[in-house]
Amino acid sequence: MHLKKISSLLCATLLLIIGAAFSARAQNGYARDPNQQVDQDYTKKIAEYTTEKFFNSPLTDYLPASSNIPTPKAVLGDVAGAPNKLPYAEDVYKYMRMLEKASPRVKVFSIGTTEEGREQLAVAIASETLLAKMEENRARLAKLADPRTINMNDAEADRLVEQSFPIYYITGTIHSPETGAPTALMELAYRLVVDDSPYIKSIRDNMVTLITPVVEVDGRDRMVDVYNWHLANPGKNWPNLLYWGHYVAHDNNRDAMGLSLKLTRNILNTYLYWKPQVLHDLHESVPYLYDNTIGDGPYNAWVDPILTDEWQLIGWKNVSEMTKFGMPGVFAHGTFDTWSPGYLMFIAATHNGISRLYETFGNGGADTLTRTLSPSEYERTWYKQNPPLPRAKWSQRNNNNYEQTALLVSLDYFNKNQKLFLKNFYLKSKRSIEKPKVEGPAAYVFPGDDPRTGNQAGLLRVLQAQGCEISRTTAPFTVSVKKKASGRGPRGGQPATPAASPAAKPDDTEPRTFPAGTYILRMDQPYSRIADALLDYQYWSPRDPQQNVYDDTGWTFGEAANVQVVRVTDTKVLDAAMQPVSGEVHAAGGVTGTGSTYLVNANADNNLITLRYRLRKASFDAAEDSFEADGKKFNRGSFIIRNATTDEVNKVTADLGVAALAVATAPTVKAHPVKAARVAIMHTWQSTQDEGWWRIAFDQMGVPYDYISTQEVAKDSDLNKKYDVIVFGPGGGNPSGVIQGRPMYGNPIPWKKTELTPNLGGFASTDDMRPGLGYTGLMNLQNFVKNGGVFIGADDSASFAVTTGFAPGVSIQNSSRLRAIGDLLKTRMVDATSPIAYGYGDTLSVYCFNGPIFNVSNVVGGGGGGRRGGGGAGRATGRGSVDDPDVVQGRPPTELPEPPPQAEVWEASPINEEQRRNLVGLIPPALRPRVIMRWGNANELLVSGLLDGGDEIAQHAAAIDSPLDRGHVILFSMNPFWRGQTSGSYSLVFNTILNFDSLNAGRKLDEK
Ligand SMILES: [Zn+2]
Repeated sequence: MHLKKISSLLCATLLLIIGAAFSARAQNGYARDPNQQVDQDYTKKIAEYTTEKFFNSPLTDYLPASSNIPTPKAVLGDVAGAPNKLPYAEDVYKYMRMLEKASPRVKVFSIGTTEEGREQLAVAIASETLLAKMEENRARLAKLADPRTINMNDAEADRLVEQSFPIYYITGTIHSPETGAPTALMELAYRLVVDDSPYIKSIRDNMVTLITPVVEVDGRDRMVDVYNWHLANPGKNWPNLLYWGHYVAHDNNRDAMGLSLKLTRNILNTYLYWKPQVLHDLHESVPYLYDNTIGDGPYNAWVDPILTDEWQLIGWKNVSEMTKFGMPGVFAHGTFDTWSPGYLMFIAATHNGISRLYETFGNGGADTLTRTLSPSEYERTWYKQNPPLPRAKWSQRNNNNYEQTALLVSLDYFNKNQKLFLKNFYLKSKRSIEKPKVEGPAAYVFPGDDPRTGNQAGLLRVLQAQGCEISRTTAPFTVSVKKKASGRGPRGGQPATPAASPAAKPDDTEPRTFPAGTYILRMDQPYSRIADALLDYQYWSPRDPQQNVYDDTGWTFGEAANVQVVRVTDTKVLDAAMQPVSGEVHAAGGVTGTGSTYLVNANADNNLITLRYRLRKASFDAAEDSFEADGKKFNRGSFIIRNATTDEVNKVTADLGVAALAVATAPTVKAHPVKAARVAIMHTWQSTQDEGWWRIAFDQMGVPYDYISTQEVAKDSDLNKKYDVIVFGPGGGNPSGVIQGRPMYGNPIPWKKTELTPNLGGFASTDDMRPGLGYTGLMNLQNFVKNGGVFIGADDSASFAVTTGFAPGVSIQNSSRLRAIGDLLKTRMVDATSPIAYGYGDTLSVYCFNGPIFNVSNVVGGGGGGRRGGGGAGRATGRGSVDDPDVVQGRPPTELPEPPPQAEVWEASPINEEQRRNLVGLIPPALRPRVIMRWGNANELLVSGLLDGGDEIAQHAAAIDSPLDRGHVILFSMNPFWRGQTSGSYSLVFNTILNFDSLNAGRKLDEK
């Protein structure tokens, strides 16, 4: 063992000398070791599967031979990127573990499991010497990552930088239909272990490459199933990948803020543990390699400018080197804006590292295909001087060549400049700690008297998971905070424009005292940036040169969670008496008082529904009015719980962080029963992307449900027998698509578990994905409501219900100017007596992406109304000034009838006697749509993000309870469940479920 080590060391030294001489002759610095054998068979196959010579580079057009290290062929049976071969995650892991067994230069770590229990890996590759020092190095990187530990001492940091080696973390195939990365990373791992080219040796000897070859493991295995089905059924249409992961599809790469998915948590934890300087995520879409690390504007406003310069440095090096290799279609900039921090790679950007991302070209599987591009893809632009070919044969091997070449160029460049990047890593961390004294704020404050302590704790736990330290005050303290807005906004329906300078001027502030028990997120900590990015407000100007918005524009976490968060710039806040919170933040709960009736305040905390289902056998009532007990005030909707022991109630409420007051006598207040509703979530076979976020929240809050498809609804004529509430999340397609399903041309398309496809089916299964709800299904669904069921729809599933006649008094107005692009907008409660509004205040910020603009009417189809909105001050042309009555000449003046009462925009216009005559469509008062919430006024509507033409939706109904015979149709023009970020609006849906058979509570009916 020892002897072998010495001889290999000697060898390495010799090779270094030879290598150095060789590379002097080589122009590009990527010279090979002339003494290293090439694996001829493997190399021949690389050439065979590469469709044009220029789709490869001198870095990857060969594979070095090794007598003891297996190549990817050992598992794949062919080379990486071979046609018709897609390995399961398990096979990729098998190979990585073979490498680990064969070489001391590889170490495999298990980093957690997915929702469906599949393993995630991280593979570290470096010289044996470096790998042996990983822990010791980690301690140094931890100091650079938290300069408080070295008293912000730059000289000490320089010493640490000299002693440390960096880590470059690469993650593959988070998007399952983007299939190339796993094989590219298998081969890259082999090269990094075996290749003795001086530049690779230097990478191996001086830095660690960390690889997670498959990020979305559940989706990968399903994708391989789908591909294998396609191979086994030539000429047939194959299933599209309806479920990538267990919950969401493409959006698994939008979870770096809310951290709802296990894959995000696992990668984040790996990042926080090893402290890599780079997180580089691999994707496939546009030809042939888009290094969108640099992206386009606007850039995220909370990252350090040092980072944005690093993006340019590494990104341009990539493009420039690959251009020299003669590889077409390599570019940077492009159409990706760098505003949202929701992408997986942004874990690095918001934690003082470097985020990177490639889009390479893929065929969605391992078929070799002739690909014809659109002009926008192949035409030359300023950032694409060597564009892709209009038409070319493309293979998975080409994809693997591009991916590996680009990564090797980046690793080489990063390695050669590693001290710079390590120093930058330290500087970014240090500047994060200096935030309070420099750009601010000094802290974010979570008041100790927030009425929603459960939601508050939930938000704080997300921040803790992001690596933020939370403190809690032990005494009241007073600091100056920004004055509350005077309520005067600009006129003319335009959204308020923030001041040019965000810095609070002295006269803009007022003192505010916070109670003991207030949580504080100090900004003098290394991960202050992620907190700032999540908690601050976003503003994207409608006049921004970037008009193609890539993703959400606003996400302010306190607003979206309905939790009070105060941005404090006064550095005095850091002197408040406080103690660091150890362990996860948990709201105080449990039973106080004595008695066998338990009172729980309604405060729109999401744990209330969990409580209902956990204490399934207890009887719950909801008070229909506010009341007082033992000197405590209880809101309308508060629970009155009976038939449960104090022990039971105490255990569950303590666990959930819900306060319960035991009393001997129940309050005398009007109340209705709160039963544990039987819930179904319905999905289509067209898309499950957005409804997946609803399922996550239901699962997190312990709300049980059956997951049914439109096809099952079509087969069930008595849905009321099984369900009280059917939830139809948004994103399942337009109304016609929901009913018709997919075109019935061609072959049936199965989604089910078979020997060939062991990972399909399971929680959702069908012999044929094509049929939709159909008209029978539509009738079943409508009968379900008419017989007393509750249907819940939001965004396009609300539009579905309106379009197909579930809500006779509701119509949808076309929008022509509205641009609410993934925003938080303000709503106002209209009818706080509705159970849907229980526990909420007067306003609520909710997520909106050009939601449907509802109008309500007392007449079926929306007709019969008077004026809508605007003006009304006009008069006909005639004599006199604008306020004068007209006078007809030659007869005495007549008395005018009373003008019709003015209806607000969110209200139904009153119907006068004239209109009422023989009005068949007049909806009886008890069946008229009941508006629960409306959008805010135009001048207050925008909370966070980009809003243009907001006056189109301003004041219109935002949440409607529309009765249909004995049941209810609940319609939202917002999306209450979005990306694990909108926990503040979850309770609108949870309240509906809790009070499903008493939704008319508090309702006041029109007289006629
Ligand atoms: Zn992707």
